[in-house]
Amino acid sequence: MPSTGLHGEYVLNENSINNNVTRISPGAYALGRIEGNTFYIAYVGRSDSDIKSRLKDHIGNYSYFKYDYFSTAKLAFDKECELYHDFGSSVSLDNKIHPDRPKNSNWECPRCTIFD
Ligand SMILES: [Zn+2]
Repeated sequence: MPSTGLHGEYVLNENSINNNVTRISPGAYALGRIEGNTFYIAYVGRSDSDIKSRLKDHIGNYSYFKYDYFSTAKLAFDKECELYHDFGSSVSLDNKIHPDRPKNSNWECPRCTIFD
């Protein structure tokens, strides 16, 4: 398995998010479960403006999360795409579709040609 390069893992609940994700910032994250010493990624995502708020939307759906802040929404998008491709895309992730880009952006995936 490739490394995520993300912080964590942390339990996905309100207290844990508040304690570990302290900034309002764009960011990317991975959600999943732990078996033994291994974190299994089931879903990847990003927020263009507030990763902390976005993570809270997933409480109850997954057990653990990893995350990192990014200085811009574009960098968070790039990271989300890397995670999506590194960890199985829609074949093995719960993500049903490729990460989307904001309307009015011309961002391209760093790893595939879906937006070409
Ligand atoms: Zn892609």
